[in-house]
Amino acid sequence: MGAQQVADRFAELYGARPEGVWAAPGRVNLIGEHTDYNDGFVMPFALPHQAVAAVSRRTDGLLRLHSADIGGGITELRLDDLAPGGDHDWTAYPAGVVWALREAGHEITGADVHLASTVPTGAGLSSSAALEVVIALALNDLYGLGLKGWRLARLCQRAENVYVGAPTGIMDQTASACCEAGHALFLDTRDLSQRQIPFDLAAAGLRLLVVDTQVKHAHSGGEYGKRRAGCEKGAALLGVDALRDIPYDGLDAALARLGGEEEVAPLVRHIVTENERVERTVALLRAGDPRAIGPVLTEGHASLRDDFRISCPELDLVVDTALAGGALGARMTGGGFGGSAIVLTEAADVDTLTKAVEEAFAAAGFTAPRVFEAVPSAGARRLV
Ligand code: ADP
Ligand code: MG
Repeated sequence: MGAQQVADRFAELYGARPEGVWAAPGRVNLIGEHTDYNDGFVMPFALPHQAVAAVSRRTDGLLRLHSADIGGGITELRLDDLAPGGDHDWTAYPAGVVWALREAGHEITGADVHLASTVPTGAGLSSSAALEVVIALALNDLYGLGLKGWRLARLCQRAENVYVGAPTGIMDQTASACCEAGHALFLDTRDLSQRQIPFDLAAAGLRLLVVDTQVKHAHSGGEYGKRRAGCEKGAALLGVDALRDIPYDGLDAALARLGGEEEVAPLVRHIVTENERVERTVALLRAGDPRAIGPVLTEGHASLRDDFRISCPELDLVVDTALAGGALGARMTGGGFGGSAIVLTEAADVDTLTKAVEEAFAAAGFTAPRVFEAVPSAGARRLV
């Protein structure tokens, strides 16, 4: 979606040129799943797919919102009426950001917004964070709020947790705000320290495919909450603040202590081994050996499928088909129960693997998947 096109549409809708145009991407998580609410490690990278917003300030306390991707006209809200917890439609994401900024003491006197996004929604690629971050960055720049990186991400997370009511971790917003092209972002969700890890797939002759199964996940639904509660119970039983505090070489002892806890023990095993997989991935990429992360991704899938139990037949079929077809590694990505899987492959095998997955879905009677290449791209920024 071009900046010019979004700015032109803004001018049609609101009768004046926007003060600026901003972009914020969706993300794919390379490795580190469900670790973010356990104070652990994650490693997302930004997609070329992004939300683009044209924005101008207002001085009369009104927020006017329009999305090119949703039918209907302009939604007009009064800033003073914004409150969490109601029945919300899509406007809750941008409105929640404005609410969170004002609640944090930032003075916002209104805005006109028109946005358009190429991030597929509900596919585990974080269209919601792209939407939040693009609005937050625009308001930050226009109102000179001085927010950057994780501070901006934190307020967006608060918008999603409290205003929208979706209990998600900090990864998505941080990825959208902080990622750099050609890199994955190693993020410690405990202290929010981060490192850019070189992840230039093209230079290595590799490709990373995203396979959107088109199965819609229900993130705020019960299963996510159950996993979260199970992890908290595990930490409490083991006497630690968060499962992050169980070291990999202390896993066997921890599991022995959880002997009778058949629900909780596999969750603990997933989180502890997943943190180790993130660290191993970082080490391999830093050593300049991106091919070697393939098996780590595949191990991660087995752990999510068997221990965390959040895969589904469509995601398993992508992984099994890709591996049988010679992929270097594959795993589900995102919250689970649908959404997308990623496949790491030699560049030469992209067409064969894509065809194999499509044929396997057809043979199983599943809805055709959407397959695209993910190039590690830039994080949120001002375009105009
Ligand atoms: P995900 O973040 O994995 O894509 P979510 O359920 O968290 O899935 O967020 C999807 C929601 O975000 C959509 O249902 C919609 O309310 C909102 N959204 C995303 N992109 C847009 C857009 N371009 N215009 C309006 N709303 C959007
Ligand atoms: Mg989301």
